[in-house]
Amino acid sequence: MDLFEYQARDLFAAHGVPVLDARVADTAEQAEVAAAELGAGTVVVKAQVKTGGRGKAGGVKLAHSPAEAGARAREILGMDIKGHTVHRVMLAPAASIAEEFYVSVLLDRANRSYLAMASREGGMEIEQLAVAKPEALARVPVDPLRGIDAAVARDIVRAGGFAPEVTEQVAEVLVALWEVFTAEDATLVEVNPLVRTADGRIIALDGKVTLDENAGFRHPEHAELADRGGTDPLEVRARERDLNYVKLDGEVGIIGNGAGLVMATLDVVAYAGQDFGGVKPANFLDIGGGASADVMANGLEIILGDPSVRSVFVNVFGGITACDAVATGIVQAMEMLKERGERIDKPLVVRLDGNNAEKGRAILAEAEHDLIEMVDTMDSAARRAAELAAASG
Ligand code: GDP
Ligand code: MN
Repeated sequence: MDLFEYQARDLFAAHGVPVLDARVADTAEQAEVAAAELGAGTVVVKAQVKTGGRGKAGGVKLAHSPAEAGARAREILGMDIKGHTVHRVMLAPAASIAEEFYVSVLLDRANRSYLAMASREGGMEIEQLAVAKPEALARVPVDPLRGIDAAVARDIVRAGGFAPEVTEQVAEVLVALWEVFTAEDATLVEVNPLVRTADGRIIALDGKVTLDENAGFRHPEHAELADRGGTDPLEVRARERDLNYVKLDGEVGIIGNGAGLVMATLDVVAYAGQDFGGVKPANFLDIGGGASADVMANGLEIILGDPSVRSVFVNVFGGITACDAVATGIVQAMEMLKERGERIDKPLVVRLDGNNAEKGRAILAEAEHDLIEMVDTMDSAARRAAELAAASG
């Protein structure tokens, strides 16, 4: 999960990375108040979007009075920056910049290690610097057991070509960034620019943090950082129910057990759909190994609540959780949804195979649910689900 700059700034502040005071605002009026609260002569008004290059796009502007901060915020709010609409700005006292540096710590997947990067020439986008002047960007592997202590930090700073006068201060920032990286379970912390101000302070003026969602269970407080406005409402509901769901833009709802099976199901449905006017899968949903009635009901509820879904394909290969348990789950789930008052009017194509498939099919046959249709093979079931979706379109 990528964070907004103001969220990265808060984590920096919490772990001792030097940052400036800041406020966020969602309207021009709030921005004017925030600028007054900051009490600085000049403030910088910055678009909060999860993409770089805001400066070049006109999303970073200076203002010399609260009224002017309101005016700049009015210009920036609603702006489109590389496909991201600006809904919020951050205000901070303007820094008087003498030099702009670059530092980052990241997970280096290719080398199965951590990597620190540092350059005396920050400010511009790092991808450009890496191409234009690769020798100016130091790349120093970090031993995960030792991490970045003061001595390691000094080595990184020297490799980045920094002047001796700033070495100690920049090294302290690197030690604090390593603290952010490990304590928050991040996969990236980046500061660009890290600046030296005219009065000799070193300050992180822009921050980018990517958190490792796989470590989310260790950080209940990170849930608050999720950007609800930016994610699909169905995905938000699915996450609240702990479902592995991704919204896609087709018409055939998909439920399966096991990520590999669900991926394959998306392929066969997309393929079959070509014969039926190009209908496509509406989602990815893996209900995992233990497909209880509860999980099935939650999954069906999310999928049936998707207005673009016209048919549903339930594709289950019984393993540790046998098909009869899944079939019972489906029958109970339909009952549960009826009790919850959900409208169930979309046809379900169910394919059960694997452990106890016969028993499972018998359970579904006995239930005689008029919306449930059983098809024996994955390919035929995909065709039938695509056909039903096309027919109701
Ligand atoms: P990005 O373009 O999305 O990376 O946004 P940044 O926050 O890095 O801002 C881009 C540029 O705006 C920086 O490299 C600085 O040159 C400039 N900038 C940002 N904050 C300030 C500030 O407080 N004072 C001044 N003078 N310039 C700033
Ligand atoms: Mn930047």
